[in-house]
Amino acid sequence: MVQQAIPIERIERFEAEFHGDLIRAGDVRKSGAPSSPSERHSRSADADYDDARSVWNGMIDRHPALIARCRGVGDVISAVDFAREYDLLVAVRGGGHNVAGTAVCDDGLVIDLSEMRGVWVDPDARTARVQSGATWADVDHETQAFGLATPGGAVSETGVAGLTLGGGIGHLRCKYGLTCDNLVSVTLVTADGDYLTASEDKNPDLLWGLRGGGNFGVVTDFEFDLHPVGPDVAICLVFYSGDRTVEVLEAYRDYVADAPPEVSLLTLSGVMPDEDLFPTDTVDELKIAIAGCYAGSVADGERALAPLREIAEPIADFSGPMPYVELQRLFDEDYPDGMRYYWKSLYLEGLSASAIDRIVYWSDVAPSPLSTVDVWQLGGAIARVGVEDSAFAGRHAPFLLGVEANWVRPEDDDVNVEWVRDCLEDMRQFSDGSVYLNFPGFLEEGDDMMRSTFGPAYERLVALKDEYDPTNLFRLNQNIAPSENARVDSGECHE
Ligand code: FAD
Repeated sequence: MVQQAIPIERIERFEAEFHGDLIRAGDVRKSGAPSSPSERHSRSADADYDDARSVWNGMIDRHPALIARCRGVGDVISAVDFAREYDLLVAVRGGGHNVAGTAVCDDGLVIDLSEMRGVWVDPDARTARVQSGATWADVDHETQAFGLATPGGAVSETGVAGLTLGGGIGHLRCKYGLTCDNLVSVTLVTADGDYLTASEDKNPDLLWGLRGGGNFGVVTDFEFDLHPVGPDVAICLVFYSGDRTVEVLEAYRDYVADAPPEVSLLTLSGVMPDEDLFPTDTVDELKIAIAGCYAGSVADGERALAPLREIAEPIADFSGPMPYVELQRLFDEDYPDGMRYYWKSLYLEGLSASAIDRIVYWSDVAPSPLSTVDVWQLGGAIARVGVEDSAFAGRHAPFLLGVEANWVRPEDDDVNVEWVRDCLEDMRQFSDGSVYLNFPGFLEEGDDMMRSTFGPAYERLVALKDEYDPTNLFRLNQNIAPSENARVDSGECHE
């Protein structure tokens, strides 16, 4: 454990410099009566240790040696310097919602930003500065006070940081682009402990890489462009019987081909057994939902979304005007903290009849009624950004397939993980094989998948990694490994 390798005086110095909480693993606490200030601290902080190490996905059960819960940039610099000095495995925690649990590690140091949640809106400039521990609920609350929004994710409890650095696909995407397309600037602490700004004027190449490539340091602040949205928007949330899945997916495909850019939709196929939403005779049956919104006037939106509500006789239809902040929270309760999750994704080249047939099949054989096979509409503003203008890979695709296994009991882990993997393997025939890097369930794909997903951008990302993180200090992510020739000033390159 790290405590054996690091002199206690150095931990005490780190603690003395640190303004946030330094939360330690229980092994120090078990050593008997406290004999030094740091041991006393660890005993009192230890009460929070299990809370502090837990992340959204209940599949993840890791025990870091230290959790550095930062209060500001100075704390982040101290934590990065400490990790580099002792060659610690580092995890960076924003909102803690990464499906693979990359916000926490065994034995190493977690740099936890969850107390840095400030959001400052400039309504005249239509920008917001957001600290990197904020969630989308924090951002929407502040920006909607001025009738503004930036495209976030579809669940408000998700962290801004991870979602933005991986791209960001939300309810405003076809009108206003990905979250990372709305990034004006980023401030971050690099592996050397330097504090940098990345913007169109300063370190523009780094900004290019951070738009979808993550990887290059601990972000402390994001600055986003804002757009007029709401307070109400027209939403579509209509459920049809699973018997109509083919018909619904064909109608959805044809509709989005000509849809106005204000419309961003996805479909979800699964049982979704919610007794409050569905008539008793359909609760346990397969269903397909079309969900999304129109980012414009409510009246225009209701007109534009109407055809999606008339594909067949719905089981339930909750479409209509809704406050934008409520839309952003609409799916929150479907993803409770601590349940078990394993997700994967694949960009689809289209929705052919055979692709639709396979979606019907995989939805039907899902082992858990809480699981869904989703088809996200892409295109619009996402496709209007040039493929070389950001590191984000996936602008070419018309649809994104999301395969979400959601279940409760640990004894069902294997069958659920296997369902996702088998489904993905089968669906590869309808894809070029590239994936959306924010959805993978475990970090198992490795270097080949990163190369094939980023394509020509990969070498440029490696060059940035060589420049800003040549020892791969930040590697618990969808990792771009530095090249073997990376400049290394001290220590060895990590595996
Ligand atoms: P964390 O687990 O805190 O961090 C994830 C990774 O991001 C970390 O490992 C680290 O590498 C990096 N990171 C975090 N903070 C920083 C930082 N300050 N500096 C540098 N690196 C950092 N994605 C979408 O695009 N659209 C959606 O609608 C959407 N919905 C989701 C709904 C749920 C319920 C969940 C669980 C996920 C959803 N996602 C969605 C995926 C989401 O984008 C990723 O899970 C993302 O990693 C979450 O970010 P986070 O900050 O909460 O994660």
